[in-house]
Amino acid sequence: LPKEFKQASEIIEQIEHYGYEAYFVGGCVRDLLLERKVGDIDIATSAEPHVSQEIFEKVIPVGLEHGTVIVRHKHQSYEVTTFRVDDDYSDQRHPDSVKFVKTIKQDLKRRDFTINALAMGKNGNIIDPFSGKKNLKNNLIKAVGDASDRFKEDPLRIMRALRFSSQLGFSLEAKTLDAMESVVNEIETITMERIVQETSKFFSGVYVKNGLYYFRKINITKYLPILKKNPYIIDRLPANIKPLNAFASVIAMLHFIEPDVAIRDWVKQWKCSNMIKSEAENIYEALLTYQLDGLNRWLVYRLHGCNYRDFTALVNMLFREKLTNEKVKQIRNSLPIESKKDLTINGTDLLELFPGKTPGHWMGETLDQIEKEVVLGNLSNRKNVLKEWMKWNLHETD
Ligand code: ATP
Ligand code: MG
Repeated sequence: LPKEFKQASEIIEQIEHYGYEAYFVGGCVRDLLLERKVGDIDIATSAEPHVSQEIFEKVIPVGLEHGTVIVRHKHQSYEVTTFRVDDDYSDQRHPDSVKFVKTIKQDLKRRDFTINALAMGKNGNIIDPFSGKKNLKNNLIKAVGDASDRFKEDPLRIMRALRFSSQLGFSLEAKTLDAMESVVNEIETITMERIVQETSKFFSGVYVKNGLYYFRKINITKYLPILKKNPYIIDRLPANIKPLNAFASVIAMLHFIEPDVAIRDWVKQWKCSNMIKSEAENIYEALLTYQLDGLNRWLVYRLHGCNYRDFTALVNMLFREKLTNEKVKQIRNSLPIESKKDLTINGTDLLELFPGKTPGHWMGETLDQIEKEVVLGNLSNRKNVLKEWMKWNLHETD
């Protein structure tokens, strides 16, 4: 076992020591078998939360009502969840109540797809009641149990299926796909936050092209904000689409494809943060600048805080260029400052230098100008140099 599993198996050992069962479960087992980078390591156990709380020293009770606690062990966090089934779904999203169950097999049955319904003991023994391993081998996403029931029970699973097809490059098993298509309208009952979460993971998938095939196939655009009124936007996505890691980059791309839909509309209707909004605006501006002038230091400088890899990917797919991340990184590393704060002068210095002037717009404008000259390499970021420059340049406007 890889070392992160070895360390986590100490938790399983500890639980077993007290006479309960415990297993690695879900995505971490799937990713281990796929030899993919493993995300969070989740553990399922027959011990109820209050027992886990007694067994371990550092326990954070994050979701007792779902049977989940976080166990801190050697500076790592592990979700430890009691074997459970989701009882009735009252509003199709929030399980009414959970019922703890006795066996790992019952717990695996409530999971969404066979490839996620795998458990593994501390010695690497796999528990696989739904042929998840076989489906992993055949690159197949297949619902556990009756697909239609499972998607109605929780329509978020439709979005999860799409995002796994994008992340793993897997096909959707025929019945699973049919069921997704026939209940896709139910995704309108999901909160926007969850939709954005899954959509964001969808567009960051290495096999996003594969995912998009199914995205279109089940007509999910009919039930997503903005896209429902402008379904052609999805058809206009670049044929050579590449994964984008930040959702802001996805919004920038969609706005580039259809400038009539403003970034602020995407952000509002998809309920994204202001941070995502300003990041999307930055990336979009950078794309326009690139289109006009190509790459330069000022453009790269203004991407500060944004995802450079996404910018490169967008340039390459929208403009059919062959920009490399190295090229952008090289420019970024050569920049004399990262932000205005790094300038060796500030507003106070300006006022000291021109005691006769009153504070006002001229200060911000002057600093903006200096910032650009420094970034472009026309001025060196030394106090004397900048003061000298100001004396010469501000005289006339005095
Ligand atoms: P990721 O790599 O994105 O974390 P994951 O498979 O671990 O993928 P999580 O959302 O972390 O996904 O969920 C952990 C496990 O919980 C899943 O593997 C699956 O077994 C189960 N699960 C999560 N969400 C659902 C759901 N909506 N319905 C049924 N089972 C689910
Ligand atoms: Mg996970």
